[in-house]
Amino acid sequence: MEVVPVIGAGLAGSEAALQIASAGFDVVLHEMRPVVPTAAHETDHCAELVCSNSLGSSLADRAGGVLQAELRALNCQLLPIAESNSVPAGAALAVDRLLFGQAVTEVIEKHPRIELVRGELPAIPEGNCIVASGPLTSEALAADIQRLTGADHLAFFDAIAPVVVADSLNLEVIFAAARWGNGDPDYLNIPLNKEEYEAFLDQLLAADKHELKDFEAADPRAKQFFERCLPVEVLAARGRESLRFGPMRPVGLDDPRTGRWPWAVIQMRRENTAGTVYNLVGFQTNLKYAPQQELLRSLPGMAGAEFVRLGSMHRNTFLNSPRVLNSTLEFRQRPGLFFAGQITGMEGYLGNIGSGLLAGLNMVQRLRGEEPATPPRETLLGALTHHVAESPSKDFQPMKAEFGLLPPLVPPVKKPVRRQAYASRSAAEMAAFGHNLGLVPASPASPEDHANNL
Ligand SMILES: Cc1cc2nc3c(=O)[nH]c(=O)nc-3n(C[C@H](O)[C@H](O)[C@H](O)COP(=O)(O)OP(=O)(O)OC[C@H]3O[C@@H](n4cnc5c(N)ncnc54)[C@H](O)[C@@H]3O)c2cc1C
Repeated sequence: MEVVPVIGAGLAGSEAALQIASAGFDVVLHEMRPVVPTAAHETDHCAELVCSNSLGSSLADRAGGVLQAELRALNCQLLPIAESNSVPAGAALAVDRLLFGQAVTEVIEKHPRIELVRGELPAIPEGNCIVASGPLTSEALAADIQRLTGADHLAFFDAIAPVVVADSLNLEVIFAAARWGNGDPDYLNIPLNKEEYEAFLDQLLAADKHELKDFEAADPRAKQFFERCLPVEVLAARGRESLRFGPMRPVGLDDPRTGRWPWAVIQMRRENTAGTVYNLVGFQTNLKYAPQQELLRSLPGMAGAEFVRLGSMHRNTFLNSPRVLNSTLEFRQRPGLFFAGQITGMEGYLGNIGSGLLAGLNMVQRLRGEEPATPPRETLLGALTHHVAESPSKDFQPMKAEFGLLPPLVPPVKKPVRRQAYASRSAAEMAAFGHNLGLVPASPASPEDHANNL
C-alpha cells in the first residue's frame, strides 16, 4: 500500500498525519528536529507551541470558539489532546505546552499507521505529499519549494500592515476616491489636516516598538528585506514630510466634506474580494500592539476601528498562495501535492491545526479516488482557505481566523447578536460539510483514550 509522506510534525503536519492514518492509510511523517534544530523550537516534540500557550478563546461566539467547534465537527485529532492537557485560563483554551507536545508525540509514535522519521527532508518527493514545514522551513526544502513554485512565490519575511473590518469605519469621515478621479473609487482614504498629521507623527515616533529578534537580525536576507519594506515609523524618522510625500501623499484626492485635498491621507485597499476587510497601504510597522491600536484609533473616522490583524514584521516562510494553491490546499499544478500550516499563509495555532486537518482529509479524498473538498466560506476554516487561495496575489499577506473574513449575513444582523449569528451559520454549514464527507464529530478525550482507540 502507498505510504503518504508528510513533511513537518508541527501543528499542521501532526494533524494531517493523524487524519490520514485514522482513515486507514499509511503515513511517513518527517520531522527534522532534533537532528536539525530551528531558531524557535526548544524540544523534539511533535506539535510544539513555540510562543504563547493559548489556542484562543473558547467562547461560543468568539472567533476562537467558533473555529474550535468547526474543527470538532470535522473530527479534529489534536483538539481533544489540547483539551485534556489544558491549564486554567479563563475563557481561553490554554495548554501545558510540554504535556501537550509530549501527548501528541506519544499518540503519533504509538499509531500503527504512522512512522515518525527524524531528519530533514531536503526536497518534496514525487507523488502524493503534504508539505507542512512551517514558518521556519529548512533552507534546502525552501529552495526546492522555490524551484517548484517559482522564486517570486515564496517569501521569507512578513511586512504586515494593519487590517481593519470595513463596517467598523466611520464613512462620514473616511471617503472612497480614486486619485485624480481616474477609475473606480476603490480606495478608502483617511483624511488628516495639518494639526492631525503633526500629532500623528509625534505619537508614531514616540510609540514603543519591537526590536528584531536575534535570529531575524542575523539572517543575511533580513537587512535587504527591511530596506525594501521600510516600517512606517522608520520612514517617519527620516523627516517630518517623508510620509506626506510617501505613503500618505494626498494629491489628487478630493475630500467630499471640504472639496479640497487633505494635508495627508492614509489609504486603505480591499484585502479580500468580498470587501469586508481593508489593509492600510504602506503601513507595515513594528509598533507594539497596544500603542499601535491606540494610534490608529486616534485617526479621523477610526475611533471604532476593529482590527483583524495588527502590523508586524518577522521571519516567516510563506507561499504566495493565491498564485499556487486552490481552496482545497492542493497545489494547482500537481494534484496530490498539498500544503498545510503557516506556509500557506494561515496564522494562529488553531487555524494551522485546521489547515492540517483539511489537507489530511483531502489527501484521503485523493487516495480514495474522490475530488478534494472546499469547506463552506461561511465557516472560519472556509474563509481562511478562501483567503489564501483567492485573495489578490499582489502583496498577499497571511491572516488568522476572524469574523471579518466571513461573507456578510443576509439579511444583515445588528451588532449585539451578529457574532452569535455567525456562529450559528458556521455550525450549520460545517455540520453539513462534515456529514457529506462521512465524518463523526470529535468529543473531548484523553491521550490514553486516543491510544486505546487506535
Ligand atoms: C518565533 C515564533 C513565535 C510564534 N508565536 C506564535 C504564537 O504565539 N501564536 C500563534 O498562533 N502562532 C505563533 N507563531 C506561528 C506558529 O509558528 C504557528 O501558529 C504554528 O506553529 C504553525 O504551525 P505549522 O505546523 O505550520 O509549523 P510548525 O509548528 O513550525 O511546524 C513545522 C515543522 O516542520 C519542521 N521542518 C521544517 N523544515 C523541515 C524539513 N525540511 N524536513 C523535516 N521537517 C521540517 C520543523 O522542525 C517544524 O517542527 C510563531 C512563530 C514563530 C516563528
